[in-house]
Amino acid sequence: MSTPKRYTITAALPYTNGPIHIGHLAGVYVPADIYSRFLRLTGNDVAYICGSDEHGAAIPMRAKKEGVSPQVIIDKYHAIIKKSFEDFGISFDNYSRTSAKVHHETASEFFKKMYENNQFVEEVTEQLYDEEAKQFLADRFVIGTCPKCAHEEAYGDQCEKCGSSLNATDLINPKSTISGAVPVLKQTKHWFLPLDQYEDFLKEWILEGHKKDWKPNVYGQVKSWIDDGLRPRAVTRDLDWGIPVPVEGADGKVLYVWFDAPIGYISSTKEWAAREGKDWEPYWKDKDTKLVHFIGKDNIVFHCIIFPSMLKAEGSYILPENVPANEFLNLEGNKLSTSKNWAVWLHEYLEDFPEKQDVLRYALTANAPETKDNDFTWKDFQARNNNELVAILGNFINRVIVLTNKYYNGVVPTPNDFSEVDQQTLTELKAYPAVIASSIERYRFREASQELMNVARLGNKYLADEEPWKLVKTDEERTKTIMYVALQIASALATLAEPFLPFSATKLKGMLNHVPVAWNAIATEDVLIPAGHKIEKGELLFAKIDDKEIQQQLDKLEATKKANEIANKQVEPQKETATFDDFTKLDLRVGTIVEAEKMPKAKKLLVLKVDTGINVRTIVSGIAEHFKPEEVIGKKVTVLVNLAPRKLRGVESEGMILMTETPEGSLVFINPDQDAVTPGAVIS
Ligand SMILES: [Zn+2]
Repeated sequence: MSTPKRYTITAALPYTNGPIHIGHLAGVYVPADIYSRFLRLTGNDVAYICGSDEHGAAIPMRAKKEGVSPQVIIDKYHAIIKKSFEDFGISFDNYSRTSAKVHHETASEFFKKMYENNQFVEEVTEQLYDEEAKQFLADRFVIGTCPKCAHEEAYGDQCEKCGSSLNATDLINPKSTISGAVPVLKQTKHWFLPLDQYEDFLKEWILEGHKKDWKPNVYGQVKSWIDDGLRPRAVTRDLDWGIPVPVEGADGKVLYVWFDAPIGYISSTKEWAAREGKDWEPYWKDKDTKLVHFIGKDNIVFHCIIFPSMLKAEGSYILPENVPANEFLNLEGNKLSTSKNWAVWLHEYLEDFPEKQDVLRYALTANAPETKDNDFTWKDFQARNNNELVAILGNFINRVIVLTNKYYNGVVPTPNDFSEVDQQTLTELKAYPAVIASSIERYRFREASQELMNVARLGNKYLADEEPWKLVKTDEERTKTIMYVALQIASALATLAEPFLPFSATKLKGMLNHVPVAWNAIATEDVLIPAGHKIEKGELLFAKIDDKEIQQQLDKLEATKKANEIANKQVEPQKETATFDDFTKLDLRVGTIVEAEKMPKAKKLLVLKVDTGINVRTIVSGIAEHFKPEEVIGKKVTVLVNLAPRKLRGVESEGMILMTETPEGSLVFINPDQDAVTPGAVIS
């Protein structure tokens, strides 16, 4: 294991236009939290930094939609996000927000220093402008076809499908997302970061320097952008929401959100250091500090190309040692989506599964989208809990705690001589801290979580083979040794589980009533929990999750799917104008259905006898898939009585019953629902 170091670990700043969902957790916050907790446990100096990203075009857009000010939006979501992270046990050393004064100052100073060193290109160019909304269009204010992959809903700064970074003027068939108008070109002045001038630096630093240690998905994306050639990129915007551009002649302009947001890591570190009485600078400027950015794959360009170029330009900062971006997590086979509400929201999960934070942490880690997109399913979640957490880890701990209390009143027994199996088991145990550490240090959190489970498997196998519950009747001395060995494994688990399952690890430490063992001590110390030590009574670490709880979650998703289908259903356009004469040609009457039967060999047709007041006539109606014959007898309906008769399957139909369709797709009658109306009454 490496010698202790100083680490600055950042997790992507969540955007305050919606709450946190499982995709964010699996992609960024859970792996970053495991990493940070592990590094603290192994004696490193860690600043785990995050905060809310509160600028950018989506915020005022959402505010407009909800009819409130942007401040109301950011306050609302900042509070929800911050609380759900805390409740979920994400161990940020600081969680700030980019609307904070320290951030506005830090980002302004950063821009000013680059400006004074002539590191921007100032240029009047033609930008997209919405003449109806009287506003320039950039970023999320404009969508169009991606010039790289032909995705039709690419944003003005990025295509979320292929990940390409774009300028708004690159879009094919651009359209304003405010008014829907086709934008015109209008001149405006902006400051550009000449990324083309950083190509050599990026090639040397990433393509040559990090070919081996960066994840292939990250390295590959970066390489393809650099190979394509980088172009200057505007870092200012014509917007009224954001950090004002801090130079003369920039009225009505703010910093591009992706210029200010990553500086938020620095300002959040400053806020933390001020509170803790520390110096923030070594965490960002000392070359012995290891800076690691945890992000999702849609943020690679900003963290591997743009922000490092800014840090390089500014000149006094270190560069990230790694950017372990994850791929995307899907939900039950579909892409997670905030706007479509297709998600498992963290704050709702915590309400539905109180005190089951570790179950979600484990399910997301064991199935993390580390090398490819992965799917979260509630069935897998249930299986991870019932078959692994309950059946393996929980089962082992429960046996150890219960038997120790039962046989020895909770006092760790004094062992006798170790058998070969005992020695082998203890030797295997000693290897795990390094095995798990190696996986974590290489950002392989799935693998690490499975190695943790293997420690519990080791314990289960040991107990199953040695069978202390049988031996206790015949060989008390041998039983003591077995239980002593099992307690050493339980004690190691309390420490090894902490990065992955912090709530359960705390519970377990409580049950063992034990000063926690240091991570590295597990490999070197022979005694982790000494004979004579008194442990507490047990409680179950994990409880089974039954089918009913899973079905409730699936039903919730099914309801979302239905709601989306309804929302997406298009209202049919209005038909051509009809004259009053056209209308009076139609003879609409109230009728009563007096008989109904199925048309033989026709799935959709009912043959009805309808009392129209004029006569009782036969009408064939295509409603058999929606109504049983007995359901419609006696119903009052609206009938077009002078429709030209026509034969359907040999039966002459004299008229038509008016129907409509609900958003869910059921047919219903246009129903004169009053007792006073009688068959034959004219509808006009
Ligand atoms: Zn694209």
